[in-house]
Amino acid sequence: MSNDINHKEATVTTNTTDVADTTVTTDTDMDAAQLREEARQMRDEARRMRDEVSRMKDEIVSERKRMEDLKDELAVLDDRGGQWSDYLEVKGLHVEFDGFVAVKNLDLTVEHGDLRFLIGPNGAGKTTIIDAITGLTPATGSATFRGEQLLGRKPNDIVKLGVGRTFQTASVVEELSVLENLQLAEGFRKKTADLFKKVKGVSQNIQYMLDVTGLTADAYKPAGILPHGKKQWLEIGMLLVQDAHLLLLDEPVAGMTPEERQQTGELLKRCSRNRTVIIVEHDMDFMRSFADSVTVLNQGEILAEGSVEDIQNNEEVVRIYLGGGE
Ligand code: ADP
Ligand code: MG
Repeated sequence: MSNDINHKEATVTTNTTDVADTTVTTDTDMDAAQLREEARQMRDEARRMRDEVSRMKDEIVSERKRMEDLKDELAVLDDRGGQWSDYLEVKGLHVEFDGFVAVKNLDLTVEHGDLRFLIGPNGAGKTTIIDAITGLTPATGSATFRGEQLLGRKPNDIVKLGVGRTFQTASVVEELSVLENLQLAEGFRKKTADLFKKVKGVSQNIQYMLDVTGLTADAYKPAGILPHGKKQWLEIGMLLVQDAHLLLLDEPVAGMTPEERQQTGELLKRCSRNRTVIIVEHDMDFMRSFADSVTVLNQGEILAEGSVEDIQNNEEVVRIYLGGGE
């Protein structure tokens, strides 16, 4: 027993000595290990912080990018003074050519945010309505936009009231570049010109409209060499840089390829979110795809008005126009 104990004690002693010895060595080792561990932890911590910082940097970059995108989106929505009160109200519009009544006491209201199609057979008076509203044809009655009477004003003054039009044939200056055409158009817009600071001679407004109309890559090309579709987009871009909030477009997709039609429709849809857009059009598929509302004209008078569905279900319209084989 005692032997056992002694033995054990001996063992313990020995062990203790061993342990003590070991402990001494281990302590040193452990200190070093601990230091190494601490250093490792600090390195890890530093790495984590670096990662965190770089993640934050990425976040800042992507946040900046998001803000830029948001700014672009807002720019689309931003109508620079556009309001729900920016609607066109036509009352008793009347146009005669030597006794021939081309537009007969027409009432027409097109609201802000509306994409209105004006359809009807040839000679129905569609172009004449646009001419009257934009000061190119004398008319009686009333046509107001933003509460301003348009009839009786000069075409240039009507442009300054935020009313822009395109013609059946594109009317860009072929010899000038896309950019120069836009700058020319921008020259019309006096009031808000100062709001846009110049960037390398190109205003933000023009840069933005180049982007909206998909013409950035063509900015320095002469407008004359653009394909037909792009000439029309340039015309639309010119109206936009003029700050037009009532856009009157006379057969904008005539002569365009199906793809160009689609892109034009999307552009006009985008424009109409914060503007009042009236499109004279013959292409029924185009109308079906993009119209918010439709006015059907016949012999200077309104035959029907409503949604695409209303118009397509209107028996008189089908008989006189849609059924007439366009
Ligand atoms: P739409 O654009 O719907 O095809 P218009 O508005 O061009 O029709 O023409 C309506 C009618 O007015 C047509 O009968 C046309 O011949 C006539 N018209 C248009 N402009 C003139 C003008 N300057 N002088 C005489 N008649 C015109
Ligand atoms: Mg016409």
